Order: sequence, then C-alpha cells, then structure tokens
Amino acid sequence: RHVTPKQVKKVMDGSINPFTNQPFTAQYKRILESRKKLPVYTQMEEFYRMFNKNQILIMVGETGSGKTTQIPQFVCYTDLPHTKGKLVCCTQPRRVAAMSVAKRVADEMDVPLGKEVGYSIRFEDMTEPGTTFLKYMTDGVLLREAMNDPNLTRYSTIILDEAHERTLATDILMGLLKNLARRRTDLKIIVMSATLDALKFQKYFSLKQGKPAPLFKVPGRTYPVEVFYTREPQLDYVEAAMRTVLMIHRTEDPGDILLFLTGEEEIEDACRKIQAEADDLQKQDPGSIGPLACIPLYSSLPPSQQQRIFDPPPSSRSVISPPGRKVVVSTNIAETSLTIDGIVYVIDSGFSKQKLYNPRMRVESLLVSPISKASAQQRAGRAGRTRPGKCYRLYTEHVFMTELEEQTHPEILRSNLANTVLELAKLGIKDLVRFDYVDAPAPETLMRALELLNYLSALDDECNMTPLGAIMAEFPLEPQMAKMLIVSPKFNCSNEILTIVAMLSVPNIWNRPIFMRREADSAKRSLEVPEGDHLTLLNVYNCYVQNIHNKRWAWDNFLSQRSLLQANNIRAQLKRYMEKFDIGLISTRDEIQLYVNIRQALVCGFFMQVAHKGAGEVAYVTVKVPEVVSLHPSCGLSGESEWVLFDEFVLTGGAYVRTVTAVKPEWLLEFAPKYYDINSFPNGKMKNALLQVQKNMRTPSLSIGAKKKKNKSKNK
Ligand code: ADP
Ligand code: MG
Repeated sequence: RHVTPKQVKKVMDGSINPFTNQPFTAQYKRILESRKKLPVYTQMEEFYRMFNKNQILIMVGETGSGKTTQIPQFVCYTDLPHTKGKLVCCTQPRRVAAMSVAKRVADEMDVPLGKEVGYSIRFEDMTEPGTTFLKYMTDGVLLREAMNDPNLTRYSTIILDEAHERTLATDILMGLLKNLARRRTDLKIIVMSATLDALKFQKYFSLKQGKPAPLFKVPGRTYPVEVFYTREPQLDYVEAAMRTVLMIHRTEDPGDILLFLTGEEEIEDACRKIQAEADDLQKQDPGSIGPLACIPLYSSLPPSQQQRIFDPPPSSRSVISPPGRKVVVSTNIAETSLTIDGIVYVIDSGFSKQKLYNPRMRVESLLVSPISKASAQQRAGRAGRTRPGKCYRLYTEHVFMTELEEQTHPEILRSNLANTVLELAKLGIKDLVRFDYVDAPAPETLMRALELLNYLSALDDECNMTPLGAIMAEFPLEPQMAKMLIVSPKFNCSNEILTIVAMLSVPNIWNRPIFMRREADSAKRSLEVPEGDHLTLLNVYNCYVQNIHNKRWAWDNFLSQRSLLQANNIRAQLKRYMEKFDIGLISTRDEIQLYVNIRQALVCGFFMQVAHKGAGEVAYVTVKVPEVVSLHPSCGLSGESEWVLFDEFVLTGGAYVRTVTAVKPEWLLEFAPKYYDINSFPNGKMKNALLQVQKNMRTPSLSIGAKKKKNKSKNK
C-alpha cells in the first residue's frame, strides 16, 4: 500500500517533476547526483521501512549526513501532502538555517523558493497558502501556530530538527507533540538530532508498553581529525584565531577553514583584519601564497550574504600561484545547523554567545561563555567531512579536560520563561508544574514568569489568563513589549509606540566604523532626543521615512540601512496585528505632550526595568532587586535623571543598562501600582524617595478632601 523506495527512486530519476508536472532541469539532475552520495540517501529503504511502521521516530545522524535536506523530501514522496491539502514541516532553532535550507531544498526539488517549498520565520513568511506543502520554519513559529490550532491540523508530518540543541521552543514542542500524538493518530512525528545521545528522546517518547521509541540511525562516514591545543592559555582568542588562520594559509595544504567566534561585531572585525593581512602576504609572495576569501556568517546577515558561504574558494590568480582558500568565520550556526563542504581546518575559539537567565535579578542576557565538550567535539567534526582534517583549539588540553562542561545546558534551564508561560496559558495548559517537560525548568524561574505576567495583568491572581493576556499572547513579542503596544492608544501614542517596538526588534542600527568613530558619534548626536534613547529610535525612524527616497541618507548618518528596512517591515506586520485586534493607531500633535505620553506608555510595559539614582549619588540602582548599574556608553540621555527605564541589561565589562529613557516616579506609582506598592520595598533611599513622591501626589487631593470635611462640619 505504501509508496516503495523503488518507486520513489524511479520518479526522482525520471524526467518529469511529480509535484509540478514540469520537466526536471539540468541543475536538478546535477544536484541529484551529489545527493545520492549522502549517507541519508543511501539509507532510503531503511527510512521508509521505519517511517511507515511507526507514528513517532527518533533519528540520529552525523552533521552533514543529509538529515535536514533529505528526510523532509523523502516524507513528501510518500506522504504526498499536496494531494490531501496538508503540509510537512521541519523546524529549525535558527532563522538562518530555516532560510538557507529551504532555499537549498527548493533547488533540490526544482521548484521556486516560496512556492511548493517555503519557509516561515518570525516577521517573514515565505510560503504560499494552497501551494506550499513543505515548510521549513523556526521552532518558535510552530509553537505560535500551536497556540491557535492546538491540533496542528494542517500538518500530516512534523519534523523537529536539531533536537539536540534543546532550544526552549523545541523542548516545549516535544511536550505538546507527545500529547498530541495520542489525539491525532494520523499525525507522524520525527525527532532528528546530530548527537548520539538519542536515548533521552527515545525514552521521552516511549511507547505504551514503556518501550523506548524506535531509533533510525544513519551511520556516519567521517575521517579522522587531528586535534591541537595551545600550550598556554590565550589572553585574546580573536588575536590567536587570526594568527592561526594565517599560519594555516601559509603552511598547510589546500582546504578551507572554518573559524568559530561569537558574534557579529567580533566576526566582521576579524574578517576585515584577516582579509587585509592575507592580501598583503599574497602580494609579497604570490608564488607561494594563494588568494584567500574571508566570509562572515551570523544570524543577522541578509540572506543573499548568507549564501556566500557556499561559494567555491577563490581561484588562483596565475599558473604559478597556489590554489585559493576560503575562510568562513561563523558563530555556532555552523556547528550543526549548516554544513559547508570543503572544510578541512577548524579553529575553535572555545567560546560562544549563550543565553543566561538570572531569576533573582530577572534578567536574561547573552554572554560570551565557554562551550561544552560536546560542542567542541561537534566543531572538530566539521573538519573531517570529506577527508582527514585538523582542528586547532585555542585553549589548553587541561582546560578542555577539567573546565568544560560535558553538555550545554538545555535552554529551558537558562531562559526567562514569561513568553513561554503565556503561550502555554493560551494553549490552556495551566498546570505548569506538571507539564511533561524533557527537563523541567527551575521552579523559581516559573515563579518569576508567573509573577511578571501577573504584574503585567496578563494573568490574574489565580493564574487565569485575562482578556488582555489573551491578546498579548497573540503578538509575536515579549510580554512587556506586547503590553506596552496594546495599552498605548490610551496614551494617544500607539502610532509612535508601534515604531519604537519595531525599532527595538531589529539588530543595532548604529554603524561605528573604526576609523570614523568621531564622525559616527557626531551624526548620532544630531539625531538624539535628550529625554531618552527610545525617543531617539522614534526620531531616527521618522527621519528615515522622510528621506526614504534618498539612498544615501542612512549611509551619511552612519545608520544600518538593513536594520532600518527591517524595522519598516516589522512595523508593517505589527500594524496588521493591531488592525486584527482593533487597536487604533493614534498620535498626539503637540510634540512635548507626545513625548510625555510615550514615556508613560513605556512605563506600562517596562516598569520592572527601572533604575534610580539618589541625589548626590553617582551610580544607578535597579528597582526592587538592587543592583548597581551604569548607563551604557551608547546611551544618549542628557542630564541627570533620577529615574530611568531601560530596555536591556548588559554584562560586558561591568553592569550596564542600554536603551534608556528618563521617567517620572509619579508614573511608576500611577501606572504600575501593584509593583510599586511602597510597603513591598525594603527600607532605604529608594523607598524614601518613593514615599516622598507619594506624599507630594497625595497632598493636593488630601487638602481638598480636608476642606470638604471642614465645610461639611460647618454645615452641621
Ligand atoms: P544534516 O542535516 O544531516 O546536517 P544537511 O541535510 O544539512 O545535513 O546537508 C546535507 C548536504 O547538503 C551537505 O553536504 C551540505 O553541504 C549540502 N548543502 C546544504 N545546503 C546547501 C547549500 N545551500 N548549498 C550547497 N550545498 C548545501
Ligand atoms: Mg541538519
């Protein structure tokens, strides 16, 4: 009854695309030949045998074996989702991976991206309803879909990919799908992972009799990788990484290099320097040193730039010159999510940016932290895909053995759960403690999430979702941001808050080139609004829109054209959400009043992110959970403001608050009375300051009341 592997292979090798009825192109045939060499492809029979027999399948296979690109296609060939109006989806923890893989698979299936094969990530949907039957998407987007359709009826097969990454959304999805599988016996589920630690998932998804879920294992085919450590600890891993790249380029055989660093700025900087030095070397000695192309890879890179990592290395410039070399400088996206062919040398800095949550301080931050042993092994493995390779670890063997953790902790143990709790509440899951987690979060973290949602009035005191909470859950935004946006019409500034939310949702807009720092800073100053950075963001956006036809405007003002464009796009999408929930777009004419209104609306969302500086003090202290913080150097707030509200808490070389706006303490008491219940503050300067404010607020009304009483008594 099932489609047989033989039939599938025959169709794949045929001349007509069964999904479009168009003849296959030459490109299709070329790619098909390379696909046939992938370990997953050679296991097609085994896959179909297990897929047809089981509702839930756990799959493991080495990175690069073809899981992400091939398995969803195999499923389509047997599931035939397009014939029954269904979809097959495959989740990815990372946006870049979802986009890049969808593009690749569209090519492999010989269809345009966004038609039969598409992707969906937050704020960007590249699918066509009715046409798309294979959808790559971030795990977060599928989780949001589950909120409105708990049975996920539109899917016939759901593939959770990169499960070993243990992202928050994937973990929650595993819990939901485990439950859903009982209700929807027609739904097929595949959980794919790159590490051999699949037993955890097998046990989690165990069958009725307690037997572990079936495992489909694709044998890896990797070559030995020689691992080198540094003799001494490196003070500056970026510097050490650059030296290592150039050393390999000068002395090692042909083969591309993959360098793992931690973030956009660091990567761009390293690329520039490596490129300059390599160009110099080559100029000096073109006979023995080939050309080098240094290519960055990080999540905020635009899609066209992301594709560059798959370009072939530069060709040598003359017959006497050695072949060229490609260096990809990447965040840990390239650890398991994307595979770049031709990598022979891996340089592992030993660090990555990781999310950390401190429930006491209620802050989540991205911190450059040491990776785990499992990550280090994955990184090394990238060097041995096509032939024996080398991995240079920029740390000592002693550090590897004694200081690195075995595994990276699952994200659910390192995150602020406010958003997740709200999503679960929307799904009707109230008993968060008894939810079937793969790894249960710390009770304190759950408590903090419930508390935050209660302060934001998304949940009532019995943890029931309020009507406001139900709307908040629909917005693809953090709860504070959603709350602020939803209440902003009351302050006659929803038009502006919408802009601010969009601007807060994009990567850094300020360019600050090394050699033009002064010019960049002065351009920034001319755009700044003295009352605060949120208003500055609004001003930048408005100026950008006014100058939208002037292509040089962003460049001249040292602003990121890409981020501004993205903000514009996000704004348009959020506007549609506002229309859907009938939230009016309102503005205030008078600019002074408008700025006051905006700052008041900010308080409604971010009242928990406020810091206070007493008279004569130098440092700010955060409210309720006292922590000494400084204003980030990028902050444009002028003058001494006693109370400030901030968007972000950053811990790099000290505790800083970033994107800061001055607020009035009266607003805190008025718009967040529950949180600013003065009795809940410990005795001290902050409490005294608030008491004083409260007294001043009350005095006028009290005196009126007193007068009235007097009058009354007189009348008697
Ligand atoms: P896995 O999911 O098992 O890690 P993938 O399915 O992602 O493996 O990759 C299989 C192969 O497809 C790899 O050899 C990879 O290089 C290739 N590939 C994936 N995306 C692209 C692309 N955009 N361009 C060229 N090759 C690609
Ligand atoms: Mg993959």
